[in-house]
Amino acid sequence: QAKDAGRGVARYFSSELQSEQDDRVRLEGDIRAAIDSRQFHLAFQPLVSAKTQKLVGFEALIRWNHPKRGFVPPNVFIPVAEECGLMGPLGEFVVDEACRAAAQWPEPITVALNISPKQIILPSLPNTVSQALGRYKIPGNRIELEVTEGVFLGDNNQTLDVLSRLRALGVGIALDDFGTGYSSIGYLNKAVFHKLKIDGSFVREAGTRPENVAIIQSIVQLAKSFRMNVTAEGVETAEDFERMRDLGVDTIQGYLFGRPLSFDRANQMVTGLASKRMAG
Ligand code: C2E
Ligand code: MG
Ligand code: MG
Ligand code: MG
Repeated sequence: QAKDAGRGVARYFSSELQSEQDDRVRLEGDIRAAIDSRQFHLAFQPLVSAKTQKLVGFEALIRWNHPKRGFVPPNVFIPVAEECGLMGPLGEFVVDEACRAAAQWPEPITVALNISPKQIILPSLPNTVSQALGRYKIPGNRIELEVTEGVFLGDNNQTLDVLSRLRALGVGIALDDFGTGYSSIGYLNKAVFHKLKIDGSFVREAGTRPENVAIIQSIVQLAKSFRMNVTAEGVETAEDFERMRDLGVDTIQGYLFGRPLSFDRANQMVTGLASKRMAG
C-alpha cells in the first residue's frame, strides 16, 4: 500500500519534472531564435540623485516580448540562457544596446547594465566592452557594469583580473543586490568596485523592520570607508526615499521616480531635463 503510494508520488513528481524540462528545452530554442530575430530590447529605469532628485542615469534592463508567451521576465529566461551557454551572445547584445543609448545622451547621464557571472568568466568580455565603446565613440565612464556577488563563486583570480581590465577602460563597476548573496566583503578592498547597490528587499522593509535600517546603515558606512557610492533600489514611496536619503544613500532607483521605460520615453526625460537646464 505504502509502496504504491510512494510510486504514485514519484511518478507524479517525475512527470512534473519532465514537463518542466520540456518547457526549458522549448525556452532554450526560443531564446536562440529570439536573438537572431531581435525580439529582445532594453528598458531604461531612471536613477536620481538623493540630494537634488535630478536624473543622473538609467539602468538598462533586458525585455523579451515572446511572440506566443508575451512578456517573459528576465528572472525566468536569464537563468535558462546562462545554463545553455547563450549568455555570451545575449550579453553582447545588451552591451551594444546600452552603449548605443549612452552615446545619445549628454554627460553626466550614465547607463548601467547587468553582467551575468557567466559573462565574467568569458575572457573576451573586456574586448567586447571596449569595442562597443569604440563603435559608439564614448568614454568608458559613460557606462557602468552591475555584477552580483555570484561572480565570486568561480575562479576569483580570473574574476578580479577581468574586473580590473574593465576598470582600466574607465568603466564603473557596481556590486548589485548587495547583502543578499554570498558575502564578498573581503573583495571590497581589491578596489574594483565603485558602487554598492542595496537590494530593494532591504529598502522596502526598512519601514517595518528596524534591523533592516541597521543593515543599510552599515552598508553605507562600509561604502564610505572604501570611497564607493551607494544606490538604493526598490524605492517605491516618499517615505522610502526620505529614509534612504537620511541614511546617506547617494542615488535612488525605484518606482517612485520611474519604472523601466522604453528608449523613447527615457529620451524624453533626458531632453526635458536638458531644456529645463537651458531655461534655468
Ligand atoms: P536587478 O539588476 O537587481 O534589477 C532591478 C530589478 O528591480 C528590475 O527587475 C527592476 O524592474 C525592478 N525594480 C526597480 N524598481 C523597483 C521598485 O521600486 N519596486 C519593485 N518591486 N521592483 C523594482 P527586472 O527588470 O525584472 O530584472 C530582474 C533581474 O534580472 C535584474 O535584477 C537582473 O539581475 C536581471 N537582469 C535584467 N536585465 C538583465 C540583463 O540585461 N542582463 C543580465 N545578465 N541580467 C539582467
Ligand atoms: Mg542591476
Ligand atoms: Mg539589483
Ligand atoms: Mg536583482
